[in-house]
Amino acid sequence: MSDTETETKAEAEVYDASMQVKELRESFASGKTRSYKWRVSQLESLLKFSVVHEEDICDALRSDLSKPVMEAIIHEIALLKNSCKLAIKELRHWMTPEKVKTSITTFPSSAAIVPEPLGVVLIISAWNYPFLLSLDPVVGAIAAGNAVVLKPSEISPATSSLMAKLLGKYLDPSAVKVIEGATSETSALLEQKWDKIFYTGSGRVGRIVMAAAAKHLTPVVLELGGKSPVVVDSQINLQVACRRIISGKWGCNNGQACIAPDYIITTKEFAPKLVETLKQELERFYGKNPMETKDLSRIVNANHFARLSKLLDDDKVSGKIVHGGERDKTKLQITPTLLLDVPRDSLIMTEEIFGPLLPILTVDKVEDSFEVVNSGTKPLAAYLFTNNKRLKDQFVACISAGGVAINDTTLHLTVSTLPFGGVGDSGMGSYHGKFSFDAFSHKKAVLYRSFAGDAPMRYPPYTKGKLRI
Ligand code: NAD
Repeated sequence: MSDTETETKAEAEVYDASMQVKELRESFASGKTRSYKWRVSQLESLLKFSVVHEEDICDALRSDLSKPVMEAIIHEIALLKNSCKLAIKELRHWMTPEKVKTSITTFPSSAAIVPEPLGVVLIISAWNYPFLLSLDPVVGAIAAGNAVVLKPSEISPATSSLMAKLLGKYLDPSAVKVIEGATSETSALLEQKWDKIFYTGSGRVGRIVMAAAAKHLTPVVLELGGKSPVVVDSQINLQVACRRIISGKWGCNNGQACIAPDYIITTKEFAPKLVETLKQELERFYGKNPMETKDLSRIVNANHFARLSKLLDDDKVSGKIVHGGERDKTKLQITPTLLLDVPRDSLIMTEEIFGPLLPILTVDKVEDSFEVVNSGTKPLAAYLFTNNKRLKDQFVACISAGGVAINDTTLHLTVSTLPFGGVGDSGMGSYHGKFSFDAFSHKKAVLYRSFAGDAPMRYPPYTKGKLRI
């Protein structure tokens, strides 16, 4: 394409994006998305979509990621259904203004915090859980009464096109739109004025999103990633700990999950036992030849396969693989891989791994792990395995992370009463359950006064006598 053709295409995309937003603004201005009835009917339809099309969704996830059906159902479809059901059940309550106390200065009066929809919002999602990460924020946006554009990831094209093709049959197309596309389409969308942008993905693109939002003073939620550590003490049930680490790593999209364990820290003394048990349990789960298992997702594409290969080919980790490490470029698969005692300045320890490789660092005392974790950027999740109460308390107090799970991995994400989101480099803002409703609402402060209690001291002339009152 010539430069002029590229510019014309970009202008057409911006024009198209602005027309789509215009239509959504008109729908929002009509007031229809504000009603309880509209919100509930949309949430019920979204629930119906995920029930009726369960098989299609699983097929799309298989096509995009070879995602095992069990993972597709439990980690994506069931979680979305739960979000819809909770929002439908709680919506009246969430929408009800919260009465709050007033102060003597306003006596007599009453006050309330009234949640109101923000307007027209943009949701940009990632490819690794392409169904859940696209539609879970949509649940919050609809529950809060907004009009929505969803821009799913082009890296998971089957799930993206399934949503683009079918959602219009279930959701009000004048208020909820799916717009597919990659960088140029997303850039055109980002030029528009939104009332909120909810972005899930890498920190690199998160910075682009935030810069674009700043031009319009648009608030953002950034759901990013990071290196989530697992600290393993020796006072544990070793087999259960290893099973839970494996389940959170390879059992979550083969490590391509934002809260998957990124690396382990344990003591030098305990490391051999830990490695041995991890190996045993990996073999129990995925067999002697994990390259052939159907229970692992594949690496999403050749670029990510090359990125992960680079982490393994780094000279600094040469000879550090203690398990796995087999690669098949045609299958886009790398077997579950453990690396022991990798240097902290190796690529695998300085980049988010987002794949089936798990390095293990060793320290003299388990408490030394705190310094290792805190020397990096703040992770999205941090995990600790121990029976030691003092260590648990120290970990919760000293480790800054989006979320923490003690004696498990990833499951805190399923607790809808907990906010899900990052801190520092792992993101800002949160969602899930009521937090999703809040993420897409403005909390309007409302004071109600009558004409009684009109204290003269607030009015001029400002005499000294009035100050003494
Ligand atoms: P990504 O940032 O490459 O892409 C995310 C979205 O941004 C996609 O929709 C993509 O089309 C769009 N995009 C890509 N480049 C763009 C550009 N230059 N301008 C505008 N838009 C652009 O992220 P990814 O590779 O899809 O996801 C992996 C990252 O996301 C990891 O860091 C992971 O930890 C993180 N993640 C976080 C969560 C969470 O909930 N916190 C969930 C999943 C993934």
